[in-house]
Amino acid sequence: MTIVACEKVADAEVEIRRLEAALAATRLEIAQLRDDIARKLNESEASIFDAHLLVLEDVALIDDVSKEVRRSGFNVEFCFQEVAQRYIEIFEKMDDDFLRERAADIRDVTGRVLDQLLGTQPERVGRAAQAHVVAARDLTPSDTAGLHDGGVLAFVTEEGGRTSHSAIMARSLDVPAVVGVKGLMEAVQEGDVILVDGESGLIVLNPTPETIDGYRDKEQAIRNRRDRVLREVALPDLTSDGAAFILLANIGDPAEMEDALGYCARGVGLYRTENLYLRLDSWPSEEVQYAEYAEVVRQAKGRPVTFRTLDLGGDKRLGDLADEANPFMGYRAVRLCLERPDVFRPQLRAIIRAAVLGPVQVMFPMISGIEELRRAQEFFRMVERELSAEGIRPSASIRLGAMIEIPSAAAVAEELAAETDFFSVGTNDLVQYLLAVDRGNQRVASLYDPCHPAVVRTLLQIFQAAKKGGIPVAVCGELGGDPVWAPLLIGLGVHELSMTPAALAEVRFVLRHSVSHELQELAARVIASADAGKTRQLLQEFAATKLKLR
Ligand code: PEP
Ligand code: MG
Repeated sequence: MTIVACEKVADAEVEIRRLEAALAATRLEIAQLRDDIARKLNESEASIFDAHLLVLEDVALIDDVSKEVRRSGFNVEFCFQEVAQRYIEIFEKMDDDFLRERAADIRDVTGRVLDQLLGTQPERVGRAAQAHVVAARDLTPSDTAGLHDGGVLAFVTEEGGRTSHSAIMARSLDVPAVVGVKGLMEAVQEGDVILVDGESGLIVLNPTPETIDGYRDKEQAIRNRRDRVLREVALPDLTSDGAAFILLANIGDPAEMEDALGYCARGVGLYRTENLYLRLDSWPSEEVQYAEYAEVVRQAKGRPVTFRTLDLGGDKRLGDLADEANPFMGYRAVRLCLERPDVFRPQLRAIIRAAVLGPVQVMFPMISGIEELRRAQEFFRMVERELSAEGIRPSASIRLGAMIEIPSAAAVAEELAAETDFFSVGTNDLVQYLLAVDRGNQRVASLYDPCHPAVVRTLLQIFQAAKKGGIPVAVCGELGGDPVWAPLLIGLGVHELSMTPAALAEVRFVLRHSVSHELQELAARVIASADAGKTRQLLQEFAATKLKLR
C-alpha cells in the first residue's frame, strides 16, 4: 500500500479541484484499458472495467472525500486514502461472496486515483523480465489483465473464489490459476519455486526434481488430450455407429453464450435465472429480466434455450430471505415462486416475451409431486394467456418441463411424465437428497457418492418413466458434464446432456468414440453391480480408454 503523508492545506477547494482532475484522468485511463482488453480478449472481459468506471461515478465516495477535506483541512490524497480504505473494509466484511469480492475492484480503482493525485507510476504485476509465478493475497482485475502481456506462467492467491473477477479472467486468458489458498502469503517467499496444478486446484511449494518431472509428464498429457478433443469439437453429436445424442450448455449470464457457442453447444439446456437476482442482490423487474433473457435468445441464433424458473433458496440466498434451520429443505425454488405471484409472474412474463425471438423451453426446479407441477403449469398458462391477450405470442409453443431432483419426484416419475413435456434431472440435488449428504459440506464430502447403487437405480427409474411417457429426458447436473459419467447416462437412456461449456469438448469426444451397444453394455454391467467401488472403476476405465484414442 502506498504511504501517503498527512499535511495541512491552505485551501480545501483547491484540493477538491485536484480530486476532480484526478478522477477525470483515471476515467480516461480506465476507458483506454477497457478498449485495449476488448481488442485483445473480448467485450465481456472488458465489461469488468465498467464496474471500475462506476466506482469513479460513486457520488457518496466523492462526497465523503470532499467533506473530509473541508472538515479536517488535510491534503486530498490523505483524505481520499482514508475514505477509500473505509469503503474497502465495508465490502470485505460483507457476507455475500460476490459483494465481498468487489472490494478488489474498489482497491484497484482507488489505487489508480491515488497514483494520479501523487503523480506516481503505478506498480503493476506481470512486467518482470523472467517467466514467473505470481503469488498474491489477492489480484485486481487490472493486475490479472496485465498478466496477459507479462511473463506470468500462473498465479496463486490467498483470497478469492470462483466468482472473483480474477478467477473469471484467468479462465478466459488460459493462465493456470489456483485461488483461495489458505496461509499462502505466510508460507511463500520471493524466489521460491511454485508448481501450480490448475486442473486439480493444487500447488506444491518448492517441489523436488522428481515431483517436477512427474508434473511435466502430466502437463504434456493434458496438452495432448486437450488438442485431441478440441480438434473434434465441431463434429456432430453422433456415436461412432450413428446414434444421436444432444449436448447443451449450462449458463447463467448472457456473456457465457460466447463460450457455449465456441464449444458448439446445440443450445442451452439450463439457464440459471437466479444468477441475475444474485448479481443484483435484489428482485429484478420484468424489464430487467426481459433484457437479459432476450439477449440470450438472440445470441442462441435459433438454438433452443431452456430457462429454469427461479431457483433461489438453499445456498443461493438473497439478503431479504429469512434464515432457515434447513435451507436446502426449506423455502426455495418453485415453492417460493408459487407463494409469491409478485415474483413468479414478472419472471414468466419476461421469459414468454423473450420467446417471441426464438425457441424457448421452461422448466420448474424442485418439483416434489404432481400437484406442485400442475400448479406451476397452470400459473404459467395463465400468464401466457394474459400476454396473448396483449398480442404477444411466442415464435413456437413453449414446452414445459419438470426438473427431477427430489426423490419423491423420482418415485412418481411415471405420473409426472404423463403430464409434462420433458424431464431434466438435477443430479447435484438428487444425489444429496437421496443420500442425505449436504452437497456443500466438506466434512461429509466423501459420502456424496453418485456411484452409490441407489443413485444409479433411481436414475434408471426416471429414464424408464420418461421412455414410457414418450418424453425426452436430459441430465443438467454436474454428472452430465463428466466424461466418466456421460457414457453411463447415455447407456441408461438419456437423450440430452447439459453442462458447463468448457466440458463439452471432452464429453463429445468420449461419446463420439463409443458404439451404442458398448454404452448399453456398460450400463447393464453397472446396474448388475451393487458395488459403488466397482461402478467407479468400470466408468473410469471406460472413459480412460476413449480419451487415449489417437
Ligand atoms: C442440480 O441440482 O443438479 C442442478 C442442475 O441445479 P443446481 O445445481 O442449480 O441446484
Ligand atoms: Mg438443483
